[in-house]
Amino acid sequence: ARKIIPSGVNSTARAVWSGWDPYPLFVDHGTGSRLTDVDGNEYIDYLLGLGPMILGHRPPKVTKAVVDFIEKRGTVFALPVADELTLSNKIINAIPAVEQVRLCNTGTEAVLYAVRLARAYTGRKKLVRFEGMYHGFSDGVYWSKHPGLNVAGPDKAPMPIPQGPGMPAHLADSLIILPWNDVDALREAFAREGQDIAAVITEAVMCNTGCILPEPGYLEAVREITAKNGALLICDEVITGFRLSLAGAQGYYGLEPDLSTYAKGLGGGFPVAALGGRKDVMALVADGTVSMAGTYSANGIAVSAANAALDELAAPGLYDGLYERCQQLYDGLEKIIADNKVDAYVTGLGPVLQVWFADQPIRNYRDAARYARHDLFRIWWEEMLERGVLFHPGAFENLFVSFAHSKDDIAQTLSVAAEAMRAV
Ligand code: PMP
Repeated sequence: ARKIIPSGVNSTARAVWSGWDPYPLFVDHGTGSRLTDVDGNEYIDYLLGLGPMILGHRPPKVTKAVVDFIEKRGTVFALPVADELTLSNKIINAIPAVEQVRLCNTGTEAVLYAVRLARAYTGRKKLVRFEGMYHGFSDGVYWSKHPGLNVAGPDKAPMPIPQGPGMPAHLADSLIILPWNDVDALREAFAREGQDIAAVITEAVMCNTGCILPEPGYLEAVREITAKNGALLICDEVITGFRLSLAGAQGYYGLEPDLSTYAKGLGGGFPVAALGGRKDVMALVADGTVSMAGTYSANGIAVSAANAALDELAAPGLYDGLYERCQQLYDGLEKIIADNKVDAYVTGLGPVLQVWFADQPIRNYRDAARYARHDLFRIWWEEMLERGVLFHPGAFENLFVSFAHSKDDIAQTLSVAAEAMRAV
């Protein structure tokens, strides 16, 4: 049983995020792969704080590093701490395309700085982004669900397609929004206005529309087109970084972007983010031409958490074990889908995945908006939640698997999934 508002909580504080109506689940604590709500219900957690808890909840070494830092050194920030250099070097060593790093607090900030930097470096204004991708809450890249700010979109979709006459003028002269996995659309945009394009920003795996993989050759084409036209390629690794591999999605696909943004997985649950990339581009940050401010940026607590998290993630063979357990999950889900003769399929790459309830393959946001069965997804989600398996209720979101998820967790999840799929 879940209470709507936990006792003692003042319900007039309604500007507080109210959770997932009608399931406003209030969390009490997390341990490893498990989350426990205020009513004592335990869930196998595939939300993982929207991704960051790649090491599971309360990872002991990260927790210890943070507690030690606070007890022995305080909450230092606003002047550099040596640990910041240690962390930057770890990031540089893990990711070939990252030659220099500047730390900040959130993915939104890292993206905002990346775009600002690309504009300064190229002297151009326009940013190409892709329909259905989410790059944070910065107005320059975000599209609100508020009807007054948007063109009509499929309203169940978390990210209405931001294009056409409804785009506010202040964005229209600086933003070009294209379908993803579509080389021709990108070529046409560059043929038309390539001299004005500062950068293309993309995830290498489109996580914010239900984990769509790049088609063979697509990322290579994006790299080639941007390089040929003097535009920068920004790879948003806020979800994929340190998750798909130690070097993120770009490590997995062998992509070499000019700039990359990291957050979530980097800090083992603490707010720390990074912008990294080519030294000649980052030079504009280093010399102060492009400011990256932020009172709490690179604060010692978050940095010590990230240093501990990266040490753990660098253990040899770690990701291989994770991919094996994820394969167990993928295979089990595919079998359950087939047994129940549901029009659905599993999409994903290792520890980030989604189940598409659709009778057509989905290669970008336009397909997703057309074919995704939100109603069936919702039934599945509710049936899973009721049986103690937690993930985001959005059909366009993801399930995240952590290093703390054991084979037993996955076996238990699959037996729940089989029951839930019968309801679908
Ligand atoms: N980029 C991507 C790909 C994201 O998924 C997110 C957050 N979901 C962001 C940027 C923004 O990160 P943050 O919430 O830390 O500001």
